[in-house]
Amino acid sequence: FRRLQREEAELSRELQDLIGLPSATLDGVTIPLHANTGLLADITPSLRCGAEGVGLYRTEVPFLVRDRFPGEEEQRRTYRQVLEAFAPAPVTVRTLDIGGDKSLPYFPVQEDNPFLGWRGIRIALDHPEIFLTQLRAILRANEGLNNLRLMLPMITCVAEIDAALVLIRRAHQELEEDGARIEYPHIGVMVEVPSAVYQVPAMARRVDFFSIGSNDLTQYLLAVDRNNSQVADLYDALHPAVLRAIRQVIEDAHQSQRPVSVCGEMAGDPAAALLLLGMGVDSLSMSAASLLRVKWAVRSFSHSQARALLSEALQLEDGKSVRELVHGHLEQAGLGGLIRAGRR
Ligand code: PEP
Ligand code: MG
Repeated sequence: FRRLQREEAELSRELQDLIGLPSATLDGVTIPLHANTGLLADITPSLRCGAEGVGLYRTEVPFLVRDRFPGEEEQRRTYRQVLEAFAPAPVTVRTLDIGGDKSLPYFPVQEDNPFLGWRGIRIALDHPEIFLTQLRAILRANEGLNNLRLMLPMITCVAEIDAALVLIRRAHQELEEDGARIEYPHIGVMVEVPSAVYQVPAMARRVDFFSIGSNDLTQYLLAVDRNNSQVADLYDALHPAVLRAIRQVIEDAHQSQRPVSVCGEMAGDPAAALLLLGMGVDSLSMSAASLLRVKWAVRSFSHSQARALLSEALQLEDGKSVRELVHGHLEQAGLGGLIRAGRR
């Protein structure tokens, strides 16, 4: 164990050398690596590891740590700190995604099936006063910075996007009428529900970018509760169905000239990141702790190797075989330290 501990510390030190080096494959394809944030305490580690922006700012976190809904000005100040810390790099702010496993103590919701119930954009659209307050706060936080990208969670149909866009335009217009000069941000949606996978062309007519929430997408595609340890063995983001769904989203989005990011946990898994690279994903967003590990993997393979690996992986019939295949390639390339404790 001492040896493993020593080797892990050595690996972490070596990875520090990658800070500041481009996140690019051996054949020169760059893939920006962004950080996932929620608490203000996430900002410093994200900047230290060289994140090129924030790919997912979970705004429900500041709501979860309070005992009442934060007001517009309180929210604005919080969001401003994140936007300012990363400016001019992009910060993707996701609107409130409560419900499911994230319930606010001061907004109790009782349901038999919370993951299939009132969550994400559904609550926001049913409570426009909460949503508009948040939208005004987010838009105002961006004043003079212009590095905001706004993202909507749990989208299942285009009507939800249309309704949300009406409210975003209204919030923007109200602020302009108040005399504020605020750029209208790029707007994107999360693809984290199976129905969204098959709606990409229609959604692309309404928004500027997509981000794949692989945590929920895996849960809903495989019908496995992401938090239930009883069925944890069945939860696998490398399941061929999940990989095919993601590949289709990326292909369809690119057909419509829209970029795609992945911001679920799989983006921070070096093995999964290689497959996503092979699919042509445009950026990855992950926790700061994973970023340099993924960068090491990206810099150790060419894009054509990642593409070949993906086509091999897509011939396989289950997630376990996919993982074994990719882990084998990581070992061969001398990156075994990424997939197990120690280096040898
Ligand atoms: C996801 O579902 O993959 C995601 C990034 O959102 P969250 O984990 O916050 O549900
Ligand atoms: Mg989600």
